[in-house]
Amino acid sequence: MVSDAVSSGQRPHVVCVPYPAQGHINPMMKVAKLLHAKGFHVTFVNTIYNHNRLLRSRGPNALDGLPSFQFEFIPDGLPETDVDVTQDIPALCESTMKTGLAPFKELLGRINAGDDVPPVTCIVSDGCMSFTLDAAEELGVPEVIFWTTSACGFLAYVHYYRFIEKGLSPLKDESYLTKENLDTKIDWIPSMRNLRLKDIPSFIRTTNPDDIMLNFLVREADRAKRASAIILNTFDDLEHDVIQSMQSILPPVYSIGPLHLLVQQEIDENSEIGQMGSNLWREEMECLTWLDTKSQNSVVYVNFGSITVMTAEQLVEFAWGLAATGKEFFWVIRPDLVVGDVAIVPPEFLTETADRRMLASWCPQEKVLSHPAIGGFLTHCGWNSTLESLCGGVPMVCWPFFAEQQTNCKFCCDEWEIGIEIGGDVKRDEVEAVVRELMDGEKGKKMREKAEEWRRLAEKATEHELGSSVVNLEKLVSNVLLGE
Ligand code: UDP
Repeated sequence: MVSDAVSSGQRPHVVCVPYPAQGHINPMMKVAKLLHAKGFHVTFVNTIYNHNRLLRSRGPNALDGLPSFQFEFIPDGLPETDVDVTQDIPALCESTMKTGLAPFKELLGRINAGDDVPPVTCIVSDGCMSFTLDAAEELGVPEVIFWTTSACGFLAYVHYYRFIEKGLSPLKDESYLTKENLDTKIDWIPSMRNLRLKDIPSFIRTTNPDDIMLNFLVREADRAKRASAIILNTFDDLEHDVIQSMQSILPPVYSIGPLHLLVQQEIDENSEIGQMGSNLWREEMECLTWLDTKSQNSVVYVNFGSITVMTAEQLVEFAWGLAATGKEFFWVIRPDLVVGDVAIVPPEFLTETADRRMLASWCPQEKVLSHPAIGGFLTHCGWNSTLESLCGGVPMVCWPFFAEQQTNCKFCCDEWEIGIEIGGDVKRDEVEAVVRELMDGEKGKKMREKAEEWRRLAEKATEHELGSSVVNLEKLVSNVLLGE
């Protein structure tokens, strides 16, 4: 069917379905742009909630698309609201899993019934939207699953069921969350060295056998095996052993990252496609002008991504810890960063740091992390943030929140040597000490050198025509998406 459409002179038609959270929509948008550049007609499917949010954050024409790049939406199954908040992740997983298939099939049917666009020839779907596999199988088109985490995080999810088999999860009760138990060695996941239970994605450490996230991820990682191929936003040099160890237990795995570098390389930022964005919050651009006035590697950048929340006390500890370093800093504080409260820092902190800080609610992070003024990143270790930091040659202080961020943190600190971890129970003295070390210490210097090495390797992976990720993307298109 695929080659029929292509040989009839029509563009092949890929339907891209991200999981409806920021850290998933961004990399899927990049995959969509790259496939469009390779001649695909693209339909990009948001949830209605995010579709409307994107119109609010980016303007009423933001999703008009182009004749060959169109936007559609399906419901997410949650109660409707027009308040811009980070949605409840377990509720979203459960509702999309239970309700996503019918409207998605209806959408595919509607697209194929029309005669204004070519018929759908393939689907690229987020691994956490695996209901799309049923639709692809019914339609008889290949589906590629995009797992947007690190390869190391994904491999841990693939082995989740073994934790259950071994009686390590669910935990019998809260008393198993001791340091000793969390330090239990996990030495049976091939290619993952020196792991402890605390380094495995967070959802494994539950006491509830019916935990939504535990069961959801076991299911989704298992269903990914039905895909025609799996793509990862990483590169071979960074996660070589982990990627290799996946190849024998999963469909063909293609590492095609870092996607943001590939997009910078292959797509003109000022073109109509280049201008299409996916940020759910309005980006505050003033920070770039502020950064332009700062010297190289002098500014600490603090941002915990789109989902992480903290207590009001933790926010205050971060604030005073940062103030005590005496460093200049750029801190992005999402309005919903504090659990159940408005995120407000102490007025005395604002006065004391007035001449050496910039605050924002949301920023153009890729640009910030590639700005020469940024010397270090205090981060939650979301995978996109980690890659963006590494590609900017920026060392990190890691404060992992949930999901596979703990695994990313472990790899940043021990394998890639670009990060130092800060304790979950934030204390201002520790914040001060680790940030000083990051910016001025011997360890910080070594991490910066290492990050610079990784930056060069990431650039090599995305080098035009020759880079490993460029070659892998080409193979994915010809071997899987075009089915040649
Ligand atoms: N991001 C951004 N501006 C911000 C914060 C985040 O553009 O102020 C983007 C960031 O570049 C990344 C995504 O949002 O692409 C966050 O994804 P990540 O995997 O790092 O974390 P998550 O939000 O999923 O926890």
